[in-house]
Amino acid sequence: MIIGLVSAHQVFYSVALPVQPWSSPLPPTSTVKKPFWQRKTLEQLNKREWESLCDGCGRCCLNKYEEDSGEILYTDVACKLLDTQSCRCSNYRQRQKLVPDCISLTPQTMRDMSCLPPTCGYRLVQEGKNLYWWHPLVSGRAETVHEAKISVRGRVVSEVGLSEAEIEVRLVRWPQTKTAVKRPKAAGKG
Ligand code: SF4
Ligand code: SF4
Repeated sequence: MIIGLVSAHQVFYSVALPVQPWSSPLPPTSTVKKPFWQRKTLEQLNKREWESLCDGCGRCCLNKYEEDSGEILYTDVACKLLDTQSCRCSNYRQRQKLVPDCISLTPQTMRDMSCLPPTCGYRLVQEGKNLYWWHPLVSGRAETVHEAKISVRGRVVSEVGLSEAEIEVRLVRWPQTKTAVKRPKAAGKG
């Protein structure tokens, strides 16, 4: 199955991790009824809001395959530029020069982003859903995406040094699930 799949569909894309600016907090939202991600569409977000929607999970930077049916199959093999500990791109500025199939997320590319994991902040907002407790915008801390076991930290290997045949056999399902550690009582609002 895997050989047939790969011969028909190569490892096809990765998605650019946006800059994640939650270390510099957004303006307080206490003066508005709902936070911006519940009030706005993706097209209505300003640049800072847009960037902050990325939770830093790193799932979109895993190698994937596409079946004839359109189904996306994830591997646990990360792009060569992904820092598998921080789950951030190690060369964000030059990523598209170094990884030509790295796709920048924009409201336009999001229209065809079924490859994003179901936990992705962009996908959730696009689908009219709320962010989860572990999203840094909700918890106020970047580490919660790791604490909830949503990020790829500790679960993936780099593609560096692996052949395509070695990547092909590393299909995994967890990047397409929403399974997370439950919110601790002290994890913050949301
Ligand atoms: S180049 Fe960077 S942003 Fe793009 S897929 Fe690789 S690690 Fe992710
Ligand atoms: S899957 Fe979505 S939330 Fe996770 S790193 Fe990629 S863009 Fe950010």
